[in-house]
Amino acid sequence: MARAFIGFGGNIGDTRQFITDAIVCLALRCELQILTKSCFYQSAPVDALGGDYINAVIEIETQLSPYGLLYVCQAVEQEFGRERPYANAPRTLDLDILYFEGVYQDDLKLTLPHPRITERSFVLLPLLEIAPDFFLPNFGELKTYLPKVAHQRIEKLPCHNCALGEKGISSQSTH
Ligand code: ADP
Ligand code: MG
Repeated sequence: MARAFIGFGGNIGDTRQFITDAIVCLALRCELQILTKSCFYQSAPVDALGGDYINAVIEIETQLSPYGLLYVCQAVEQEFGRERPYANAPRTLDLDILYFEGVYQDDLKLTLPHPRITERSFVLLPLLEIAPDFFLPNFGELKTYLPKVAHQRIEKLPCHNCALGEKGISSQSTH
C-alpha cells in the first residue's frame, strides 16, 4: 500500500459538488481508501483563463501503481465532462497526483511529485491543511514555500471540517 495525495480543481459549473461527487467515485473503488479530505478553497486562476477555481486535496492509501492511479483519475475527469480544447483551458474537473509515496520520476505522462506543488497556493494550502508537516524530498518542508505564493489570491471556504476545529494552518486571503 502506498500513500498518495490528489489535488482537485475546476472552474466550470458546480465544482464544489463535482469534487464532492468525484471523491465518492474514488471511495467506491476497492483499490484505494480515502484517508483525509481538505476543506474547499476558492482561488484566482494562475496562468489560466476563466473564473475563480475551487480546489481541494485528499490523502489516500492505494494498492494501485502510479499509472493505475493516473488512469483512475483520468476516468473520473471524463465522467465529469472534462474537455481539453487547449492548455490550461477552464475545466469542470482536474485531478492531479501531487505525490505518490516513494515515486520520483520525470515522465511527461506522469511526473512525480507534481512539478508545481511548491508554486501554487491552491495546492500548498489544502495540502498543508491535511499534512501540516509535509516534507518533500529535494524540496524540504512544504510550509516554507508559503511566502513565495502569498501573492496568489486564495480563500478557504467554510466547511464541516472547519466547524470541528482548526488543526492545520489557516487560509491566507491577501486580496
Ligand atoms: P494540467 O493539469 O497540467 O492543467 P491536464 O490535466 O490536461 O493539464 O494534464 C495534462 C497531462 O499531464 C495529462 O495527460 C497527464 O498525463 C500529465 N501528467 C503529468 N504528471 C501528472 C500528474 N502528477 N498528475 C496528473 N497528470 C499528470
Ligand atoms: Mg491535470
